[in-house]
Amino acid sequence: MRKAFKYRLYPTRQQDRAMSAMLETHRRLYNDALAARKQAWEQEQRSVSYGEPSGQLKSARKTNRFLAATNFSSCQATLRRLDRAFQAFFRRVKAGETPGHPRFKSRNRFATVEFPSVGDGCRFDGRCVSFQHIGRVKIKLHRPIEGQIKTISYQREADGWYVVCSCDLGDVNPTPADGPAVGIDLGLKAFLVTSEGERVAPPHSYRQAQAALRRAQRKVARRQKGSTRRAQAVHALHKPHQRIGNRRRDFHHKTARALVTRYGTIIHEDLNIRGIARSWLAKSTLDVAWGSFLHILSYKAEEAGVTVMAVPPHQTTQACSRCGALPKVLKTLADRVHSCSYCGYVADRDLNAAQNMLRLGSSLQDKTCADGQCVS
Ligand SMILES: [Zn+2]
Repeated sequence: MRKAFKYRLYPTRQQDRAMSAMLETHRRLYNDALAARKQAWEQEQRSVSYGEPSGQLKSARKTNRFLAATNFSSCQATLRRLDRAFQAFFRRVKAGETPGHPRFKSRNRFATVEFPSVGDGCRFDGRCVSFQHIGRVKIKLHRPIEGQIKTISYQREADGWYVVCSCDLGDVNPTPADGPAVGIDLGLKAFLVTSEGERVAPPHSYRQAQAALRRAQRKVARRQKGSTRRAQAVHALHKPHQRIGNRRRDFHHKTARALVTRYGTIIHEDLNIRGIARSWLAKSTLDVAWGSFLHILSYKAEEAGVTVMAVPPHQTTQACSRCGALPKVLKTLADRVHSCSYCGYVADRDLNAAQNMLRLGSSLQDKTCADGQCVS
C-alpha cells in the first residue's frame, strides 16, 4: 500500500532561491518539450513520445547551465509528467469527450519538482531532506514517517514550501473489522446520511470563503496584465484557495475516520460524479467533492480492515427499503420524503436510499460468500 506524507519545509534564503530557480528550470523544460511535440505534429504530422525529448536531455544538459544544475532523474520525471498529460488527452479524444489539449504552464500553474527515486538526488536523514544542488533543508516532522520512502517531491504553496514523501507500507493485512454494516447516501442537502438515520451536514467552507475569493479575483482583474501589482494580486489569490482546500480535506478525513472506527462494512452508491458535476448542481457538487472523500474513505478502510463496497445506483432513491417495491409515481428531486403506497413505510428520502444501499450491498456480499463455497 502506498501512502503520502507531507511536511512543511524551512529553507534558508539561499535555499529558497535555489528551489525557485530549479522549479523554473523544470517549468521551462516542460513547456519546451510541449512546444516541440506541438510543432512536430503541426508541421510534420509526427507524434513524439517520451523517448525523444528524454534522449535529447543528456546533450542539452552539457550546453544549458540551468539544466546542468538539476538532477537528471527529476528532469525525466518532469518529461514523463508531460507524457501522462498527453496520454490522458488521447484517452479523452478516443472516448469522444471534449478534450483539453495539454497546456503551457504559467508560473502559477507549475509548483512541483519530483525526485522519482530516493538516493538519486534526494535523501531523508530523519531531520532534513537533502536535494542535489540545493542542500540540506530543514523539515517540520509533525508526525513520524511510516514505511519505506519511494519518491520525494517538493512543492510551492501559498504559504511556503512543502515536501511530499510517497511511502510503501508493504502489504497491509489487518484482521477484518467485525463492526456492523452501514449504507451511506451522499447528497447535497446533507453531506451524507447513514442507514441508521445519522446526518452529517455539508461543509460550507467554499461558500464561506467565496466572498473573500471574489474580492481577491476582482483585484486581479482590475490590474494591468504583466504588471508587478497584478502578480502580487495573483499571489494573494492563492491564500483563500489554499484555506478552502485545507478545510475541505480536514472535514473529509474526520468524517471518514468516524465511519471507519464504527463500522465493519461501508456501502455507498457508485457515483458518476463527473456526470453530475457538469449539470446545474455543479457548484454544490464540487463543494462537497465526493470523489476525494471516497478516496480517503477507501484507504482508511483498507488500513483498518473495513470493507468498502460501491453498489449500482439504479433505483436506490426510488425503491422502498422495507418491501422493495417501486412507487407508482417516481420521486422528483423536490420530493424529500419517501412514502410507500404498498407497505406504508414513511422515511426521509436520503435515509431510505441509504437503507436500500445497505440491503443491496449485504445481498451482494452474501452472494459472493455463497459462490465462494460452491467453488470449494
Ligand atoms: Zn414499501
